[in-house]
Amino acid sequence: MSQQTRTPIIAGNWKMNGSAGMAQTLTEAVAQGITSLDAEVVLIPPYPYLSLVGGAMSPSESHFKLGAQDLSVHDQGAHTGEVSGAMLVDLGCHYVLVGHSERRADHHESNEVVAAKFMAAQRAGLIPIVCLGETLAEREAGQTDEVVLGQLDAVIRAAGIESFERAVIAYEPVWAIGTGQTATPDQAQSVHASIRARIRDNSDTIGGQVRVIYGGSVKPDNAQEILSCEDIDGGLIGGASLEASSFLGICQAAR
Ligand code: PEP
Repeated sequence: MSQQTRTPIIAGNWKMNGSAGMAQTLTEAVAQGITSLDAEVVLIPPYPYLSLVGGAMSPSESHFKLGAQDLSVHDQGAHTGEVSGAMLVDLGCHYVLVGHSERRADHHESNEVVAAKFMAAQRAGLIPIVCLGETLAEREAGQTDEVVLGQLDAVIRAAGIESFERAVIAYEPVWAIGTGQTATPDQAQSVHASIRARIRDNSDTIGGQVRVIYGGSVKPDNAQEILSCEDIDGGLIGGASLEASSFLGICQAAR
């Protein structure tokens, strides 16, 4: 399946930033700017602002969606501080990140925990955006594909290849996140092609359909060359999603 038939997706991960006022203003500015885009645009604010951001999205823009940054592996019960997939659906979420490198590093989330979160998301009816990526040391040791495909294989083993009909994969080299150091288009395309080939090895159809997006210091001035790569179907944007003009500039590059 050609890239044209995979709708591009640009997702803004606000991480632990913002305030209620900022969430309102930023969402309204993005809502005004994205009319008539061909890309799907997803805002991923912190949990406390999900409802506010969902309410500030224009209901007429069906390609403007809400996402969350994480969820519990559990569906309900005695898990203080956790947030279930069903609760995120209640708040209007369509997507949820799983396995962001900051969760893997700060909360020691293993490949198995990430796979469990991926399945919890799908049980609740959410589309997981599963994040994969190598550290600088792993890249320098020539282990990039081994690490990234190992992270992917853990999810395929646990959830089955069919689950990728309702999932998005984000390749985010850890050394490029929030550092201002972006993977070159060749570096990114090469890993994206490996990811798609691994999915294709399991199912040719799903390999052609699944969207694989890139994250790591994407800005308006480098978005075009990254997003035009054959196997790159959009971006997961951190820092640049906190300002409407830069986020919208990236969205324009994805059309
Ligand atoms: C991210 O938060 O996933 C990310 C890619 O951040 P940044 O764009 O700031 O590198």
